[in-house]
Amino acid sequence: MIPVTTLAGKKVALFGLGGSGSATAKALIAGGADVIAWDDNPDSVAKASAGGIRTADLHTIDWSAQALFVLSPGVPLTHPKPHWTVDLARAAGVDIVGDVELFVRERRAHAPDCPFVAITGTNGKSTTTALIAHILKSSGRDTQLGGNIGTAVLTLDPPKSERYFVVECSSYQIDLAPTLNPSAGILLNLTPDHLDRHGTMQHYADVKERLVAGSDVAVVGVDDSHSALIADRIERAGVKVIRISRRSVLADGIYAEGTKLIQATGGAMLPFIDLEGIQTLRGSHNAQNAAAAVAACLAVGVSAEDIRAGLASFPGLKHRMQPVGRRGNVVFVNDSKATNADAAAPALSSYNRIYWIAGGLPKAGGITTLAPYFPRIAKAYLIGEAAAEFAATLGEAAPYEISGTLSQAVAHAAADAERDETGPVAVMLSPACASFDQYKNFEVRGDAFVGHVAALDGVTMLINSATGDK
Ligand code: ADP
Repeated sequence: MIPVTTLAGKKVALFGLGGSGSATAKALIAGGADVIAWDDNPDSVAKASAGGIRTADLHTIDWSAQALFVLSPGVPLTHPKPHWTVDLARAAGVDIVGDVELFVRERRAHAPDCPFVAITGTNGKSTTTALIAHILKSSGRDTQLGGNIGTAVLTLDPPKSERYFVVECSSYQIDLAPTLNPSAGILLNLTPDHLDRHGTMQHYADVKERLVAGSDVAVVGVDDSHSALIADRIERAGVKVIRISRRSVLADGIYAEGTKLIQATGGAMLPFIDLEGIQTLRGSHNAQNAAAAVAACLAVGVSAEDIRAGLASFPGLKHRMQPVGRRGNVVFVNDSKATNADAAAPALSSYNRIYWIAGGLPKAGGITTLAPYFPRIAKAYLIGEAAAEFAATLGEAAPYEISGTLSQAVAHAAADAERDETGPVAVMLSPACASFDQYKNFEVRGDAFVGHVAALDGVTMLINSATGDK
């Protein structure tokens, strides 16, 4: 845990007592703050009280006495409308921050040289965060991985000069971290997403810009127009910018040419690595993630050799295009995280011949936008509530069966793939649907897939099928 010492002896109000909110309250208390916390959910309040956190309805407290208001990133600061606690804090002139801001203040107070990589973007955040942490760890560095990826940042070990922090930041966390100043900040890409919580694309982009604007070195993916403008603007303001691209040749920066990453300096091009053959980094979206990871790792002093070794041994993230097993020419891929058509597209574009397991609880639009990939589908195995709709969309474009359940789908897809003599093929769960009709969440669905694959005869598992780790 990182005790928050910068608020010792001060009164702090906190709202949101989910996992990261409770961890934040405990870190504040451990550092000596006088915390009063609340949540709209009575169960969370009861649990926090039982855990030693003082609770009170924040309608009833003296706001003028509070030094700071700490808000969980899940709670609306601006859109669709500010939460009632935000109105109360603003009326009393109390600053509003989140746990990432408390972390950066601690770092500044105690270990300002401690290397800190922060990652944001619309897509690829978790992959890039995990990849950077893996490169740092495998080069022997003391590495802390947290933030939006799942581990609350204040539950990590405290900052010190030789300890590396890799923190994934959602827009909500950036919005609540006004003095965010990473050693290396990454903005991967910007496409419309979460506009319900940010109002306009411009506001969403402005929030994301803050992460790189405050960085010592900013790594920016310049393949979309919003990010490209941000790179130019912060560079004019004096930030050192490293541009990355998966689409265009750059005179300076790191770009992908097919599977090759090229490091360009003043127009001189040097091949850095070929990602061909690294199963966990397939696809041009992963070339973007890898290029960003290379740039950030170089910026915090990792050698090119250590970076190459780390890229090659990246185990991948669970449920995101993760190769989980192999049998002869067949690789089994778990992409359960693909809960809509957009998220399934990169996986379908990364393999040439696919036995595709899809379906679940369908989203608006179904799989119509995936039509360009239908020629890659050797056969589709449709499950869950979406099966009939997806069958209608596939029509004559690709063979399919209604398998109904995941276990049937895996059994049939594996048998058909085994008989395929055309070369390497993939049996892939990339459902383009939510899981809730048959599973608790996409993780449970992905684990079930891994279980069914592991139960097949003659499969070599590429991960530990109990834990999902490599
Ligand atoms: P995030 O944490 O931003 O949600 P993840 O790394 O968890 O992103 O990846 C989720 C999915 O998004 C992946 O399965 C893949 O389909 C897609 N994806 C990953 N990286 C990128 C990228 N750089 N650009 C576009 N899509 C991506």
